[in-house]
Amino acid sequence: MCEMLRILMLFAAFGLAAQADVSQCNCDPKKPETMKARECSLCAEAEKQPAGVELFLLKDINPRKPNRWLVLPREHYGAAHDLHAMPKAQRDGLWRFAIQVAKEKFGDDWGLAYNGPKVRTQCHMHLHVGRLIRAAENSKFRVVRRLEEFPAPEDSGIWVHPVRGGFHVHTGEQIMETALVR
Ligand SMILES: [Zn+2]
Ligand SMILES: [Zn+2]
Ligand SMILES: [Zn+2]
Repeated sequence: MCEMLRILMLFAAFGLAAQADVSQCNCDPKKPETMKARECSLCAEAEKQPAGVELFLLKDINPRKPNRWLVLPREHYGAAHDLHAMPKAQRDGLWRFAIQVAKEKFGDDWGLAYNGPKVRTQCHMHLHVGRLIRAAENSKFRVVRRLEEFPAPEDSGIWVHPVRGGFHVHTGEQIMETALVR
């Protein structure tokens, strides 16, 4: 029994290790066999999109997050698909599309979140779209008037929600999607 427990704990530890670092992902869309790993499943979704599609929307398939959506670019941006690795014009386009989708789904109550590099479980770039949890409000934000001014921090996540005259842009933490209703 004890041995079994130990093995199970070992698996759990491996599971965490595998989740903790997508920055070293070796997936290559030209070699489909490299994208079979679980952390690369959003890459595979991107490859399924028809040519000419730049951005797309997916329902979060996690059954524990029934109110969540994901916005993604079709293109792959390096192994880690970091936000700061995206050219500015594409990044602005991603935010613009995500805001449009979020407004359609949640009116003025929307929020968008991008988890930091240390906690992402999927390598392919994705923004979480959902209804903002008002109680998640904190002091780690600055007010930005236009989406073109959103930062792309290298070592933290980011979440954004609308306020009078612009947006709150929250940074400085890794796990950001917890600001959105699951
Ligand atoms: Zn990958
Ligand atoms: Zn990808
Ligand atoms: Zn705020």
